[in-house]
Amino acid sequence: MIAILRDDEIPKPPNVLWIATPKAGKTLRYLCYAPKHDGYWTHWTGKVTLPCFGDPRRCHGECNPETRRWYGFIHAWGNTENKQVFLQLTPGAVRSLRSQLAPAASLRGLSIDVSRGNGRNAHVSIHLAELVVRDPNRLPPWIDSEPSVRHFWKIKEMDAKWDRSISFENGQPPSQVG
Ligand SMILES: [Zn+2]
Repeated sequence: MIAILRDDEIPKPPNVLWIATPKAGKTLRYLCYAPKHDGYWTHWTGKVTLPCFGDPRRCHGECNPETRRWYGFIHAWGNTENKQVFLQLTPGAVRSLRSQLAPAASLRGLSIDVSRGNGRNAHVSIHLAELVVRDPNRLPPWIDSEPSVRHFWKIKEMDAKWDRSISFENGQPPSQVG
């Protein structure tokens, strides 16, 4: 008789959260879980955002600096989404948020209102909702954004594609990409 795989341990959900972006004509409230933002470089192709690997062989347009865009991500509770998310923000929005705080102040426990105007390049504004500060010790733990960001940008698939192309060029087995 062939053994079947039994395991009484309930599987943990993957450490991947929804990526939330400011919505046109709306003000959305987020309760920050992370003490600070995480930042990543990307490339804007004119149609889509792709991750930057800092490597001309792997990046869109050989890592052309003119297409590079930075985004900050904050682990937060989304009041509208009604779940934990990573809020994706432009440099201007992160700068605006930081400018409302003391230099090294933690975001954890702060509620922020994120508004976006109408139109494609509409300005995003952020305001602290100071009356709704929560005790940081009573919030769920904050997590790193990288698993969610990697999932969002389909980096796993890109790794596989890149490995295939490199192995084809070199005539060698693909290298391990961690
Ligand atoms: Zn790049």
